[in-house]
Amino acid sequence: MKKALSVLLAACVLISALLCGCQSNYSDPTDSLKVNQSTDKYRNFYEIFVGSFEDSNEDGIGDIPGIISKLDYLNDGDPSTGDDLGIDGIWLTPIMPSPSYHKYDVENYFGIDDRFGTLDDFDKLVKECHKRGIKLIIDMVLNHSSNTHPLFEHACKDILLKKKLNSDAKYFEIEKYKDNPGDNYTEIGNGYYYESNFSPHMPEWNLSAKKTREYFKEIARFWLKEHDVDGFRLDATKYYSNKHTDGAEFLKWYYAMAQKIKPDVYMVGENWTGNAEIQEMYKTGVDSFFAFGFANSTGGFVNAVRVQNQQNLVKSLQKFERKTKANNKNAINSYFLSNHDQIRSANFNKTVGLTGTKMAAALYMLVPGNSYIYYGEEIGMTQDTTAEGDEYKRAPMIWDSENLPEIKVNDKLTSDESQAPYGGAAQQKGNKNSLLEFYKRIIKVKNQNPEIARGTITSELTFASAPSVFGYNVEYNGKKLSIIHNLSKTETVTVEGDFPQEIRAELVASNGEDENGNIVTNHVKSESTKLTLPPQSTVVLAEK
Ligand code: CA
Ligand code: CA
Ligand code: CA
Repeated sequence: MKKALSVLLAACVLISALLCGCQSNYSDPTDSLKVNQSTDKYRNFYEIFVGSFEDSNEDGIGDIPGIISKLDYLNDGDPSTGDDLGIDGIWLTPIMPSPSYHKYDVENYFGIDDRFGTLDDFDKLVKECHKRGIKLIIDMVLNHSSNTHPLFEHACKDILLKKKLNSDAKYFEIEKYKDNPGDNYTEIGNGYYYESNFSPHMPEWNLSAKKTREYFKEIARFWLKEHDVDGFRLDATKYYSNKHTDGAEFLKWYYAMAQKIKPDVYMVGENWTGNAEIQEMYKTGVDSFFAFGFANSTGGFVNAVRVQNQQNLVKSLQKFERKTKANNKNAINSYFLSNHDQIRSANFNKTVGLTGTKMAAALYMLVPGNSYIYYGEEIGMTQDTTAEGDEYKRAPMIWDSENLPEIKVNDKLTSDESQAPYGGAAQQKGNKNSLLEFYKRIIKVKNQNPEIARGTITSELTFASAPSVFGYNVEYNGKKLSIIHNLSKTETVTVEGDFPQEIRAELVASNGEDENGNIVTNHVKSESTKLTLPPQSTVVLAEK
């Protein structure tokens, strides 16, 4: 009886395998390849909005001990385990004492805001990151301070009391004007105004003044040397230039100065402009700038997924890369879908669904350079877009959609299940079909194939017979890889060409469960000159 049952069971297993089309002889190349730990500046970064990530002491504000407690989720430090996301770079939004919740108006550049923790907590975070091979960079806000910064308060004091400038006024863009100089200025009193492009709470530093530069040097030394951070994300570099300052000259000075303190310092600049201006900024020597032109709902990555056709995406990436590398041979372009100032990517990806969201991730993360995941992007977190205010772009991370976070970014903002349409991190973990597992896989593929991040796009791959299929070759140290995507939502497409024969990795967005709960396993096939790609899939090929 027992034997008959087991024969019957074996037959059932065989029949169901045949029915679902599973290829029992399929071996996943990504499973067998070793993961390389990065030792250079090429990283998969993760942006953490500190106050919204994890609250360790239940005061309603995310904090540094909270981040430490979640490091195992980000990277457990063991390259052989796949439980963690696998990122190897973290960018923290500002952590220094500041009156605002976002802390982009710094009051004291030499400390940690007590709502986030202490310097000891911070040192512990740095140590834990380094133990896991993670580079930690912090937001450095050098365009402006808070109007509660003691140097600014002192500068204003004499203007109000003595109607004149004291020596601290030189730190800032303070001047006497006959008439109101315009909207980008705020009056202190007695005809004196300060530059304030963002808000009257944010007086701008005089970046040409010798004393400002001395002060900034001390700040850089404090964080890079005394607290061992690996670098900075430079806020609002677009506003460095004004009638007194050449912003590029300032950046060049700043980067070279920091390099003397820490030779392998890494910096990424926020220059929220078009490609032409960003390319130009690479002449400063700064390693990276965010590629705003490709990001967001209007950028090339998401657009390609939406229309199921790349629409010259590779040509524009190649052109961008060529120019940035001409201006700085060590340029590392930094790609992202959205950040703390933009509508969350899952909101604008709603129209393309879960598989389209996976495709968007595969497109932007497999381009040479660094990728930046905004916390929650890896689980497809959405935001309330009916409410006004940046806070809504910075809602609490949803670790568990059945046990929502109690972080309070503002009084009106609450977390609800609708912000985790694919479930929280806990719900997605281990589910093969989830966005989280897909992100893990992309990162694993990148770590196994270091040429992807470090290479140069040498040629575009297009197929006249199949407009939904496209790709590019990347080369690094004499090694060549081909990265090819099929953007079609429904069609399995076969293309012909002289392809490298080894499948190094495949990423198939539709793998997992379909709407009826059936297991779907589609695979890429490569046979001599024919390459077959399932709907919404990506393959990385190499010469054998
Ligand atoms: Ca807290
Ligand atoms: Ca691991
Ligand atoms: Ca400025």
